[in-house]
Order: sequence, then C-alpha cells, then structure tokens
Amino acid sequence: MTAPTSDAERLARTARLAAADHRHLWHPFTQMQDWLQEDPVIIDRGEGVELIDTLGRRYLDGVSSLWCNVHGHRVPELDEALRAQLDRIAHSTLLGLASTASIECAEELVRHVPPALTRVFYSDAGATAVEIAIKLAYQHFQLRGDAARSQFVSITGGYHGDTIGSVSVGGIDLFHRIFKPLLFDVHHAPQPYCYRCPLGKALPGCAMACAGEVEAIFTAHPGAIAALVIEPIMQGADGMIAQPPGYLRRMREICDRHGALLICDEVATGWGRTGTTFAVEQENVVPDIMTMAKGLTGGYLPLAATLTTETIFESFLGPFEARRTFFHGHTYAGNPLACAVATASMRLLRERGIIAGLPDKVEALRAALAPLAAHPHVGEIRQRGLMVGIELVRDRTDRTEYEYERRVGHQVCLEARRQGVMLRPLGNVVVLMPPLAMTVAQLEQLVAAARSGIEAVTARV
Ligand code: PLP
Repeated sequence: MTAPTSDAERLARTARLAAADHRHLWHPFTQMQDWLQEDPVIIDRGEGVELIDTLGRRYLDGVSSLWCNVHGHRVPELDEALRAQLDRIAHSTLLGLASTASIECAEELVRHVPPALTRVFYSDAGATAVEIAIKLAYQHFQLRGDAARSQFVSITGGYHGDTIGSVSVGGIDLFHRIFKPLLFDVHHAPQPYCYRCPLGKALPGCAMACAGEVEAIFTAHPGAIAALVIEPIMQGADGMIAQPPGYLRRMREICDRHGALLICDEVATGWGRTGTTFAVEQENVVPDIMTMAKGLTGGYLPLAATLTTETIFESFLGPFEARRTFFHGHTYAGNPLACAVATASMRLLRERGIIAGLPDKVEALRAALAPLAAHPHVGEIRQRGLMVGIELVRDRTDRTEYEYERRVGHQVCLEARRQGVMLRPLGNVVVLMPPLAMTVAQLEQLVAAARSGIEAVTARV
C-alpha cells in the first residue's frame, strides 16, 4: 500500500482505521466503553525513540512501548538481523529439533546473566516464562523425592503476568481479586513499600520487618516451600515500588536457610532498566531461576526465557521410561526470527558497552526529576536506574490518595501526549521507563512533559 501523501488522505485513512479498531479490537487492560468514545492514536511508524502516528504526529516513546524497547525503533542492526533470518527460515520447532538461531541466542544470552544460570528454556511472553519457572520449581522437588515442597511464597503487589499460574503468584488486588477462585494458594508476604508500609513501620528502626515476615512464613511451613517468587529491586506494575537496599539479599538468604529456590522475575527489570544488565546484580544475588522477556529482543518480537542452574536441570534427567521429562512447551518456543533479533540486540548491548554508559543517563534523569520532589502533589519519586514512578497524592502531609475514578495518572499522560510524549500510568503513579537509547536531552524533555502534565492536572482535580 502506498503511503498517503495529503492531509486529506491521512485524515481519511485514520478515520477508517479508527472505525475498524472500534469495530473489531478489544484492547488489553482497557475499559472499552471509554475507548469506544475516544479517537485512538494509531501508531504507524517508529524512528529512533519516537513513535509516529497515522497523522504524522511524533511522540517520544516514554515507556518503551510497554517497557520492552531498548535501542529505539528501526535500529539498522536489528532490522538487518531480522531480514537475514527471514532469508533463512521464519520458524521451525524446538520439539525434537534444534535451530541455528535459538542456539546462537542461548549462547549469547548466558554471557549476560550470572554464570550459574546455564540452561535456557524458551517461551514467548513474560507470563509463560513465569509459568515455566513455577512448574520447574515444583517438578524439581517432586523428582528429588521431596514432594512436600510444593508451596510458593510471593510478595503482595507483585505482578508476573496474566495466566492463571502467574496470577496466582501475583498480588495486585485490582487485577487479581476476581480470579481468586481459579488460583492456587500462595503465601503472600507484606509488600516492602516504605512510603505506605503495610506494617506501619519505618526504616531504619524497623530493621526491615517486612523481610522478617517473609522468613516467618518459611518458618511456619517447614519443608513445604518450593520457591519464593519476586520482582527484584523494583516491583513494576503495582506502581514502581522500590525495595529497600538489602531486601533482595535477605530474600536469597532466607531461601538458602530454608532449602527453597529463589525465582527472580526480571521481565520488567532486565536488560538494563535498573542501571545494571539485571537487577539481581545490584545485590550480588544469583537466583536459582530467572525469567525474562520484554527487552530480550530489544522490543522487536515476543520472546521469553526461563533460565536455570545445572542442578535443577539435572533433576529432570533419567531414562525415558522414568517420565522425568518436563512436559511443557509452546509452539513458537525459540522462534528463529525472535532469536535472531534478540542475539543482535544483546550483541549491541555488549559490543557498544551500553550498560556501562547508563550511569550518566541515570544521573541526568535523577537531576531532571529532583525539582519535582517539592511539588505539593508529588508524594514520592521512586527511581531505580531508568525505571521511575512518580506517586501523586491529594494531600502530601497525610499521603491521602487521589480517588480511583479521578484517573489522575491517566490525565497527566493525556497532557504529556499533547506535548509529544507518550506515557502510560499505573493508577496515581506516573511512570517513566525510557528506552536505554534515549539521549540526555530527550530524557529532560520526557521529564518536562511529565512535570507540566502533573502541574496542569493537579491544579484542577
Ligand atoms: N513479569 C513482570 C515483572 C512484568 O512486569 C510483566 C509484564 O509487565 C510480566 C511478567 C508479564 O509479561 P508479558 O506481558 O510478556 O506476559
């Protein structure tokens, strides 16, 4: 199809597409009654860290197209890797066959993770990566003759995806409550959310009492816990809840003391978001199982991986008739197109030293955000690397929240959009999650748009 050339053509095409969207699509995490009343922004192209809509308007991609874009859009090296793979094969299965692209991707992948994580099990979404982690942990203990170790601990406010297993270990009431009868029982520990501590305590006096609560769960169920599932350093989807320093390390120690596995879900935090390639590095923690997706392909194609140690892998080995096989697999596991672009993305990270270049950007972002901390409706700014949550409050003195129906975060994002910056909030938390490729000037533009959106909206609600 040729691109429209006149404004009239662009308007007509946009109207036609919008009508078709309204007729046929059901958007994720979206109240469709509202959606059907609005004219959607229809993204048609991308360039660098900008999204371009069907009317030719440009927006900074301030949340990395839902936290997955790393190097920007239409990156020549990634485009080329994809084209080269297309000239070979788009897809072949990993069930009973190997493939060049999936092997090369796994080889590159293990260069970026803690060395103990040597085995790569592919799938296609963060949620499936977590499902696999849960099932691996469970079957590992069954196969080891420790069948009583069948329970899981997770953290309130956690988000691990939307399939039933990942929702079971999740802990966001708004999303998960309605499905409760469908979920398996999980021990939920109190959230390490210092700004609104569920235990009513404060650091340093509390000595991280929330971590103590995690240990209490293990102690109350001796020999019963298979694994603890956690988003390391920062819980993303519940509103960028940053853990106090040392919390993750404590989780590792608790798991070790009680003979359980530690599953770190790096789907959001992985691939440089928190300033290191993986968040676990910041506390020198090596998980037994690590999940990743989103940024693995630089944000190009769906690909996920669940990584484990040789110890866990070996639990599954045995003669065919012993039925120790991991009976799990997705049709598109290790899809060669996705693997090829993932390999190219990881090579860019490594060869260009992109992670080593992050501290300057992280500091620039921090400096740009600093003046916002004094705003009367900013309760807290939580930043870990390039992951930022700005929690808006009605009243700073007693931390009163804005009412849900006010959609304060959403309104701020609409204001920012008018200034050419695309954001997506989490309730009353304005989220900034720029691609690693954003320049300092673009980061400053991002913060400026968020700031003026916050000023405009909080002045009128
Ligand atoms: N785990 C975490 C920590 C996430 O933030 C997400 C998505 O935001 C997921 C899992 C689910 O990933 P996906 O949407 O690819 O299923």
